[in-house]
Amino acid sequence: MADCIFCKIAGHEIDAKLVHETDELTAFHDLNPQAPVHIIIVPKKHIVRLSQAAPEDVLLLGKMQYAAREIAEKLGVAENFRLVANNGRKAGQSVDHLHYHLLAGRKMNWPPG
Ligand code: 5GP
Ligand code: ZN
Repeated sequence: MADCIFCKIAGHEIDAKLVHETDELTAFHDLNPQAPVHIIIVPKKHIVRLSQAAPEDVLLLGKMQYAAREIAEKLGVAENFRLVANNGRKAGQSVDHLHYHLLAGRKMNWPPG
């Protein structure tokens, strides 16, 4: 997808600090971290948001969650982390390419803002 920042990161056209990569997924440190650990997990396939995922994406979505579990372990935060998908502008989504935020390393509040 032209002009999609996360497609460009997944395609190695722009730099990011990668922590995990498979043929279907890429995970990298957020440019503007909101916690000591703040990782963005994206599918290489351009899906705009979770509400646009299709039945054939179910396995991919599961792999994104399992990648979160593996990355949390690798970064030593497996006991306490938060996994968030902002879906739509009013929910806080600013980049229109599906992504999960993996946040850890500080106390998380509930309810979220
Ligand atoms: P959203 O607000 O869409 O849920 O999350 C997008 C996230 O992507 C934000 O936390 C933002 O800091 C991060 N982000 C936006 N552009 C870039 C970039 O070019 N590189 C990296 N590493 N993170 C980015
Ligand atoms: Zn994209």
